[in-house]
Amino acid sequence: MTWLRKAKKGLKPQQRRRELPDGLWTKCEDCGEILYHKELERNLWTCSKCSYHFRISARAYIGILVDEDTFVERFAEVISTDPLKFKDSKRYSDRLKRAREETGLSEAVVCGEGRIEGNPCVLAIMDFAYLGGSLASAAGERIARSILLAIETRRPLIILSSSGGARMFEGILSLMQMAKTNALLARLSDAGVPYISIMTHPTTGGVTASFASVGDVILAEPKALIGFAGPRVIKQTINQELPEGFQRAEFLLQKGMIDRIVHRTELKKTVAWLLRFFEAASSTIPHGPRRRAGESLERFRAASLPIGTALPPPPSAPEGDGIAPPAANGSAPVDAPRDAASPSTTPAEREVPIQE
Ligand SMILES: [Zn+2]
Repeated sequence: MTWLRKAKKGLKPQQRRRELPDGLWTKCEDCGEILYHKELERNLWTCSKCSYHFRISARAYIGILVDEDTFVERFAEVISTDPLKFKDSKRYSDRLKRAREETGLSEAVVCGEGRIEGNPCVLAIMDFAYLGGSLASAAGERIARSILLAIETRRPLIILSSSGGARMFEGILSLMQMAKTNALLARLSDAGVPYISIMTHPTTGGVTASFASVGDVILAEPKALIGFAGPRVIKQTINQELPEGFQRAEFLLQKGMIDRIVHRTELKKTVAWLLRFFEAASSTIPHGPRRRAGESLERFRAASLPIGTALPPPPSAPEGDGIAPPAANGSAPVDAPRDAASPSTTPAEREVPIQE
């Protein structure tokens, strides 16, 4: 029996381990780090090691961006039909039914009104999980109505894009949404109402080629794929090697297509800062017909309130809230990946409950 005693002696006392039932951890899709869901949730679904941004739902973005209990959904009654009775390997009507069941959404964009750090705004948030966040007639109509609502209420518009492009199951009807939304955005700009576009991973095709690219301010999440056609198609067409990091947010920031890259944990603060900036500057903005997309920002600049300078804190905001003013186009530094282990990077604001 000595062998048994020996074996027993050699056994280590059972260490107290955190009980982690299956499904409580996720592997980072970029660096492979094992991340616990609670930590991932605290970091708003971004990797604490490499800052990879996991794709999240429109509802999750609303939870992150909008003040609690202030979001009121609008235009949910606008839903897709199947005007062309389209069928490839499956019927389009079946695809719609399945997307609705899987996501709990009725279209690829959730629109509504809400407040961000107390600032009222109109929001349209796309959801990639619903048929690749594709732009179809109903999605386009919801965005169009949101733009009209922003004009009517004179509240800034925020569109968060996450899309594979136009939904080809609706053929030309989906492509028409590009022109429709942009025509209304021109009216929004004429009315002097600001529009902030947020591009997340991925923002491609007809969405990049229309409303996502004409914001007065264009923000993007780190490493987001942003482009019109895919790199393979471009490479074959121009018959040239593409530069490294082509079509990624960092590359596009250098080229001046976007204004700032914002880590998801800083997104709400940055948008709130912009809303306060536009609110403070609105009294000085000269009105008149707009000549090109994004001209409102130029007018704000012309009104001697360049966006690169710090604004006096508005009456409702506490002083020194630590928000760095977004820099002028092209000169903004790329937000460095944040180390979630550092306590200074986990402010209470980050611990926004995510409703999924
Ligand atoms: Zn990672």
